[in-house]
Amino acid sequence: SALSKIEEVDIEGGWKVGDKVPYAALAKVFALIEATTKRLEKTALLTSFLLLVIRRSGPGDFQPLLQAVYLCINRLSPDYEGVELGIGESLLIKAITDSTGRSGAQVKADLKKEGDLGLVAMNSKNSQKVLFKPKPLTLDFVFKNLKEIALSSGQSAQRKKTSIITKLLAACQGTEAKYIIRSLEGKLRIGNAEKSVLVSLAHAVILAEKEKAGKRWSQEKLAEKLEEGSNVLKSVYSELPSYDLVIPALLEFGIGGLREKCQLTPGVPLKPMLAKPTKAIGEVLDRFENKKFTCEYKYDGERAQVHLLPDGAIKVFSRNSEDMSKKYPDLMEQVPHCIKEGTKSFVLDAEAVAINKDTAKLMPFQELSRRKRKDVKVEDILVRVCLFGFDLLYLNGESLLQKPLSERRKLLREHFQEVHLEFAFAKWSDAEAVEEIQTFLDESVKDGCEGLMVKMLESDASHYEPSRRSVNWLKVKKDYLAGVGDSLDLVVVGGYYGKGKRTNVYGAFLLACYDADAETYQTICKIGTGFSEEMLKSHWDSLHPLEMEKPRGDISVGGAKPDIWFEPKVVWEVLTADLSLSPIYTAAQGVVDERGISLRFPRFIRIRDDKNADDGTGPEQIAEMYEKQALAQGGGKKKGGED
Ligand code: ATP
Repeated sequence: SALSKIEEVDIEGGWKVGDKVPYAALAKVFALIEATTKRLEKTALLTSFLLLVIRRSGPGDFQPLLQAVYLCINRLSPDYEGVELGIGESLLIKAITDSTGRSGAQVKADLKKEGDLGLVAMNSKNSQKVLFKPKPLTLDFVFKNLKEIALSSGQSAQRKKTSIITKLLAACQGTEAKYIIRSLEGKLRIGNAEKSVLVSLAHAVILAEKEKAGKRWSQEKLAEKLEEGSNVLKSVYSELPSYDLVIPALLEFGIGGLREKCQLTPGVPLKPMLAKPTKAIGEVLDRFENKKFTCEYKYDGERAQVHLLPDGAIKVFSRNSEDMSKKYPDLMEQVPHCIKEGTKSFVLDAEAVAINKDTAKLMPFQELSRRKRKDVKVEDILVRVCLFGFDLLYLNGESLLQKPLSERRKLLREHFQEVHLEFAFAKWSDAEAVEEIQTFLDESVKDGCEGLMVKMLESDASHYEPSRRSVNWLKVKKDYLAGVGDSLDLVVVGGYYGKGKRTNVYGAFLLACYDADAETYQTICKIGTGFSEEMLKSHWDSLHPLEMEKPRGDISVGGAKPDIWFEPKVVWEVLTADLSLSPIYTAAQGVVDERGISLRFPRFIRIRDDKNADDGTGPEQIAEMYEKQALAQGGGKKKGGED
């Protein structure tokens, strides 16, 4: 039935094989996905649509599927190319007024009422009388125009963007304007995250292969094939996160041939492996009982994935796959010094740390974050950076992901060399007893690190797991040991005006965690203590431009009542003394209790400008922390009490 609803969408008398995909079909499937909260239904709807796209694409033509997938995840190219939407509200309002003849004041008033500019655009369009029905939009046309908007820069960029958006809006029918505007804003808000899009893509390709080969499978067999296929695609994509490469290979070689064709490739940053937090060294030993493990310093800098391409080019990527070559021109100069002869291509996992060039002492992350992010000139650099290599993922044409850490580490040592103030191997110890680990942890803190990373060293469990927060990597931070708990990365979604002395600043802030499955921000606490006047001023400067009168539609508000809302963008690292159940906030609602979870006595640590809003801590992790704490307190769950 999902399929037939989408098939109803016709274009000029029928969407046939070889025709361009009508944008109306995509808008239709978005509307159907948005209207249901059931995950399986969302997946089935998107699968049906992608299957139609595959069936109706001309032989060998992968563009329609590629464009469709990009629009579903609201991107236009792989992350590392840095082509981003996220057009400001005022420009969109201008385009809406230009294309519908409504006044800016009317549009703004509607926006205040609805809290969704997409909806406002759609309603404005639909209430407009038109003499001629516009020519239907195709997905190809929308995609190319969105890309042109994202790529326009320079003096006349604003004018050009407004004119393209006005042109697109003029051709919109039905629900199209709603999704085009939301795409332009950078948030689709249909509750279908990229993980689910990958599943639908795998299912659609398998169903298409089945149809083509005329295979008959039992229900069980089909379910097994679908599950197997999604796992293959997810794993391949985590190694090679580029639909530009994966989709053509999928269509040509099928799911079965994908793993062989698509592997980790220098130049394409893979999603880094992450660690699970632990509360104490004892917990590390419980988890790694009888296993061979190793402890490394956890350096307090910024993750840097360094690639050497076979053509000699060097690239440095951030934790979020951003190309950081412009931020670190000094690293680009330093890296060749540490490569030994015979090393022709590699992917190195490392941490870039600020270092004092006179004393060689490591400096905290705050120093590093004083550097500009773009267009840095080597001669202007005040904060020097040293690279600490801790893993080698690819070497001379071969992926090392499936090799044990002990072997990867050996290869790292063999192919790289330490250079004073420029490159060093992450310090490690194979200590096994609590006292030894404690001593190593104390040393790490004394040397300016955040604590330790404890990693499985041998066997399959020590393979590199891209994009996973894995139990095979544990972090032990110095802060946890002081009993203040793990830190969280939270998104600032609201502000409370300062009173008394604090007039031209916000005095307190509303924070939220991010639920990646539902694509919503869930409120978690109000934070208002521990800020200096200077800090409050700088928070005002960065948050004031993000002000919104109503909460954006993807914020699950609960009972929070800030004076002003922010577009979710800024991420803060926060420590808390305690977690408690809350009748007000919505974080992790329904996971451990019908109530949400909130932080008691939250403390601001630092701004995380290396993280996006959707990298914020998730509800599962918060629920896990809450449960751990309840366990440690003898199972007694706490109630209420947030400040
Ligand atoms: P955090 O706030 O702890 O940095 P995170 O979400 O960025 O959180 P985690 O998985 O918690 O990442 O911790 C791993 C991070 O620690 C890596 O992303 C890396 O930047 C840093 N790091 C420093 N030293 C090491 C090391 N020896 N091995 C792995 N990661 C390290």
